[in-house]
Amino acid sequence: MFVSAKSTSSSVHSDVADKYLVSKLLGKGACGDVFLVFLEADFSRQFAMKIVDKKSFTSTIIAPSATTSGVLRSSANDVLSEVNILKQLQHPCIIHVHEVFDYPDRLYLVLERAIGGELFDRVVKKDGLDEFTAKLYFYQMLLAIEYLHSKNVVHRDLKPENILLASEADMTLIKVTDFGLSKLVGEQSLMKTLCGTPNYLAPEIIKTSGMGHYNSKVDSWSLGVILFIMLAAYPPFSDDYNDMPLVEQIKKARFSFADHAWKSVSKEAKNLISKMIVVNAAKRFNCTQALRHNWLKDEVMVKQVEELMKKDIDTRDATAKKPSSEDVNASVMQNISHESEADLLNNTVQLKNSCKENADLTVGNVSEKDIVWKLEEDSSESCSGAKKAKVDKLN
Ligand code: AMP
Repeated sequence: MFVSAKSTSSSVHSDVADKYLVSKLLGKGACGDVFLVFLEADFSRQFAMKIVDKKSFTSTIIAPSATTSGVLRSSANDVLSEVNILKQLQHPCIIHVHEVFDYPDRLYLVLERAIGGELFDRVVKKDGLDEFTAKLYFYQMLLAIEYLHSKNVVHRDLKPENILLASEADMTLIKVTDFGLSKLVGEQSLMKTLCGTPNYLAPEIIKTSGMGHYNSKVDSWSLGVILFIMLAAYPPFSDDYNDMPLVEQIKKARFSFADHAWKSVSKEAKNLISKMIVVNAAKRFNCTQALRHNWLKDEVMVKQVEELMKKDIDTRDATAKKPSSEDVNASVMQNISHESEADLLNNTVQLKNSCKENADLTVGNVSEKDIVWKLEEDSSESCSGAKKAKVDKLN
């Protein structure tokens, strides 16, 4: 079991390992892998830890300004100030950045954990969302992005994979993630997107290969594309549409509601999409305008969202006030939301403890941190396979 010893360089840095117990792989993103972690001092508190391997980015950390794509090499101070901005962002519909560890080779982002998975998977599983659910999610996305824009943070990489769901229920909070990361890891991540799947990128980003000037309206475009996908279960722009190359489709905003999937969708929903997928950014709706659109004047939906947000804020306040650690261990299993996760935590702790007891039996003197990494390696293969399958499905 412990045969493959990992080099020290690939172990979790000791500051991080001292504070967090790293468990299973939650997912793989363009910038790094994301793991479930538990706070060592209080196992009832779980987070998602994104580990960004800086070596996979060709240059050192780059911090573009919030509203333009100007590229500046950043110092450690720049990273620190970006991190502080991210940590201060608090909204029920965005993933809270709990803590960040910045090392020359790696960035560890400790994030609020969303257990409902990606919006992408939900849309694929349900073969498109009913209009009420799509509206409930879209309204929250607009609130979240309007909030980010009010703090001078432009997401720039909005897509259904970056919208997480707080629970398995249909009526759930959405949680926008990966905002501001491009500021920490630089334009490289954006470039990766450009080279990979530009399906959600605004034409002004594509036209200038991400190096021109653009503003927060790039997020409105992506939101329009996401709304289209939620309702139709297929993308407005795709390489699979043979009559025109993908980037040309985007540059011309060439999409239609002709397919049978749109027959049962309201005119208002289609109208809002047409106000957001607009080539001329000056004429494109911003989030505030979109929030005022007729389609979103739905009292039942707004009330649902308000209730969900209030619950989230109350839970967060209760956690903040909770006395920490010492007396928590006894009630750990009750506090963890899923039984399977209680088992997982238990197994992780046992594995860690048995490693401590049997240190001599391990090959190559593998440390407890390495063993957690071995777990990660094992789970990462199945994850990449799953990701490929679902991408194939949406395409
Ligand atoms: P990302 O790099 O943000 O695209 O994350 C890659 C995958 O990891 C996501 O698609 C999710 O499946 C998972 N993930 C990322 N962040 C979280 C989180 N905060 N909570 C739960 N799962 C997450």
